[in-house]
Amino acid sequence: NPKEEFLNVPLLDFSIGSNRDGIREALGQLRQRREGDFPRILPFINGKPVKDCPHFIASDSPEETGFTLGTVGMVGPEHLEQAVEVLKGGFAKWRETNPALRARVLFKAADLIEVSRSELVALIILECGKPWIEADADVAEAIDFCRYYGKNALDLFKSENLCAYDGEEDHHFYEARGICGIISPWNFPLAIPCGMFSAALVTGNAVILKPAEQSTLVASRLFQIFLEAGMPADVGAFLPGEGETIGRSIVQHPEIDTLVFTGSKAVGMDIIREAAVLRKGQTHVKRVIAEMGGKNAIVVDDGADLDQAVKGVLYSAFGYAGQKCSACSRLYVHTSIHDRFIERLTTAVQSLVAGRASDPSVDLGPVIDDDAMKRINGAIASAGLEAVMGRLSADREAGRYIPATLFVEVDPDHKLLQEELFGPVLAAVRVDSFEEGIRLANAHEYGLTGGVFSRHPGHLQYAARHFRVGNLYLNRSCTGALVGRQPFGGFKHSGVGSKAGGPDYLKQFVLPRIVCENT
Ligand code: NAP
Repeated sequence: NPKEEFLNVPLLDFSIGSNRDGIREALGQLRQRREGDFPRILPFINGKPVKDCPHFIASDSPEETGFTLGTVGMVGPEHLEQAVEVLKGGFAKWRETNPALRARVLFKAADLIEVSRSELVALIILECGKPWIEADADVAEAIDFCRYYGKNALDLFKSENLCAYDGEEDHHFYEARGICGIISPWNFPLAIPCGMFSAALVTGNAVILKPAEQSTLVASRLFQIFLEAGMPADVGAFLPGEGETIGRSIVQHPEIDTLVFTGSKAVGMDIIREAAVLRKGQTHVKRVIAEMGGKNAIVVDDGADLDQAVKGVLYSAFGYAGQKCSACSRLYVHTSIHDRFIERLTTAVQSLVAGRASDPSVDLGPVIDDDAMKRINGAIASAGLEAVMGRLSADREAGRYIPATLFVEVDPDHKLLQEELFGPVLAAVRVDSFEEGIRLANAHEYGLTGGVFSRHPGHLQYAARHFRVGNLYLNRSCTGALVGRQPFGGFKHSGVGSKAGGPDYLKQFVLPRIVCENT
C-alpha cells in the first residue's frame, strides 16, 4: 500500500528450515545446467530479444573453473542506435504518464522480486560468489529500492503553487530528463542496477541497462522482472556489452543525457570527462551521477568494547571477501588497547573460512575473477610484511579463494593503505591518540564510509563532526546501509551525486520547471 510508511523488508531467517530448503533447491536447479542446456541470455530492445549479437560470452561461476551458468549475447553499436530510436518514442509517452502508474510498476517489480527471492539469491550466490546472507541482503535491498523510490515519486510529482500574490500563479513541478544510461558494477548485482534503474524509470525517463559482464545473468532477470511488472516495452532496453566499447558509446551518445554509473574511480572519471564533450546533435548538457570507490577506515578507541569492535571490524573487512565499496581495509587502533585488541582480532581472523559461497557454513566466498585474484594476491605478496591469515575450506575446488588476510603494525604511509584492493585484506596501524586515528582515517583521497568504536561520548561527537565521510557508523560495522535509514554515497574521489536510497536521489533524474501565469 503506497500510503503506508516505508519499512525495509526483513532478511530471510536461515535458522528456519523452509528458508534454507528454498535456497538449496534453487541452487540445485542451477547446478543441473549442463552445456547445451544452460540459457542463452539475450539483449532486449522494444520487448524483443536481440538475436543477431556479434558475439557471445560465457558467464562462469567464480566458485569453480569451467562452471558455466549461461551464455550472454553482447550488443554491437547498431543495437545501441536501434535502442535509442525506440526509447525516444517511448520516452515521449512515459514522461506524460501518470506518476502513480509509473510507481505501480516499481511496486509490482518489488512484489515479483520477493516472489522470486530464493531463485535470485541462488543466482547471486553462483554468478557472483556471494555468501547466502549477503546474497539475500542484495535481494532485500532491491525490493527496498523499488518500494522506497515508488513512494518518493508520488510526492515528487505533486505540482506546487509557490505564489502568495494575488493575480499570479507560479507552478513548480518536475519532469523527466530523457534517456538514461545505467552502467552498473558486479558486486551488488541486483540491488545496485535495480536502484539506479527503478529511480530513472519512476521519474519518467526511458532507460538503458548495461550491466557489468560478471553479473549479466542477474541483471537480465531484473530486466525481465521490470517487463513483467508492466514497464512498457519501448521504455527500457537491456544492452549487455563490453564497458570499453558499448559502455563508452552509451556515455558518448548525443541523445542519452543522463548517465548513472556505479563502479571504479578510474572508469567514473573517464565517464565524467567524456560526458563533458558536446557532440554533434546533442541538445543538452549531460548529467553524470557517479558512485565510485572507497578505502574505508575504522578507528578503535581506548574505551572501545573490544568484543563489539572485533565483530564489527571482521564483518566490515571480510564480508563478501572485502568486495564492497563500503568495506573496511584500514584500521587505526589506539595504542593503549592495541595489543589486546589485535590478539583477539588475530584469533578471529584465523578462524574465518574461505570456500564455496554456495556452502552456507563458509565465511568468505571466492573473489570475482582471475584478474581480481592476481591483483589481490600480488598486493599481499609484495607487501613485504608477514600476514595473519584465515583458512581455506578443504571442500573448495579450483577457484579464486583468498583467505582473510590481516597485516598489523603497518606504517601509515604503506601502499597497503593507499590503493583500493577490493579483496579480503585489512591493514592495521597503531596510533597514539583517538585524534591521530581520525586524522589518518581522513587522510585519503576517498570519502565513502568510516567507523568508530568508542565509549567516550566526547569522542563519538568529535568523530561525527571531524571524520569526513559520506556514511559514518559509530559502534557498528561500516557496511550494510539500509534504504531510507542510511542513504548511501560518498564524496571526495568516492563520487558525485545525492545518496542512493535517500530523499534527494530522485531529483537527479528530473528537470525542475516553473510556469508563471498572470491571472
Ligand atoms: P568497473 O570496472 O569500474 O565497472 C563498472 C561498470 O563500468 C561495468 O559495467 C563496466 O563494464 C563499465 N565500464 C568499464 N569501462 C567503461 C568505460 N570506458 N565506459 C563506460 N563504462 C565502462 O567497476 P567494477 O569492477 O564493476 O566494480 C568495483 C568498483 O565499484 C569498486 O571500485 C567499488 O568501490 C565500486 N563500487 C562503488 C559503489 C558506491 O556506491 N560508491 C558501490 C559498488 C561498487 P564491464 O563489466 O564490461 O567492464
